[in-house]
Amino acid sequence: MKFVGQISMTYEIECETGLHIGDEGTLQIGGIDGPVVKDPETDHPYIPASSLKGKLRSQLEWATGNVTEDGGVHWCSDESVLSCPVCRLFGVPAEVEEITGPTRLIIRDAYPNDETVEKWEEFDMVLPYTELKSENWINRLTAEATPRTNERVPKGSVFETECTFRLFDLSEDSSSTDNEPEDLQYLSYLATGFELLEGSWLGGNGSRGYGSVTTSLTNASIAVIENTGDDIAFAADDSVCDDTEEVQIESLVEQFRDKLPS
Ligand SMILES: [Zn+2]
Repeated sequence: MKFVGQISMTYEIECETGLHIGDEGTLQIGGIDGPVVKDPETDHPYIPASSLKGKLRSQLEWATGNVTEDGGVHWCSDESVLSCPVCRLFGVPAEVEEITGPTRLIIRDAYPNDETVEKWEEFDMVLPYTELKSENWINRLTAEATPRTNERVPKGSVFETECTFRLFDLSEDSSSTDNEPEDLQYLSYLATGFELLEGSWLGGNGSRGYGSVTTSLTNASIAVIENTGDDIAFAADDSVCDDTEEVQIESLVEQFRDKLPS
């Protein structure tokens, strides 16, 4: 098994409706029943990587017919892991890693971009960066309404996350460099995951219209291991796209292929 290189991608996530990623463990002043998770340093709402990765993984589990009977997280526990896009991309428990190698996809917390923070600061809202949304839960038998106030990230907010896809060559002969790593064919599932996310929702109360998002891959860079006799270098391209249009995963795969030693 050999580390071949990596592709780092910036994804933008724009909220089409109010977003609620709850932080039930937080005590809030002002009678909010459902606060959102915030960066303790800036007090800005953010999207934790665990929420994003969990949602992408579950979307792909549904799309590939891998949802478990009890609704828990799907893992392959035998050789089938090698051809499972979910496990290849998102990883498996440590005891299965000896078959597949380490988790390929690293997703970082998504933070609001500068324009979004500026916009939040201009808003005239009760809370500094978020809106409050009242919901009524009606008891079906007594018709009694239970009011609940949720904190939401306002629509139009844009978050940015970094996704790094690491490529490993699993072939037995570690000196072979002419085969492209099989991992490359699994990268496209990341794009599928983000597309499926657009048809679903992020965070809580999705069936009540919360958390609708659009996503776009806005920037990418590629780094490959170059092994020239005595020297081993990790050669990185600053960027493999211009900022004018959305990057396509297929083009990243092509460019990665071109950089592999022949
Ligand atoms: Zn699997």
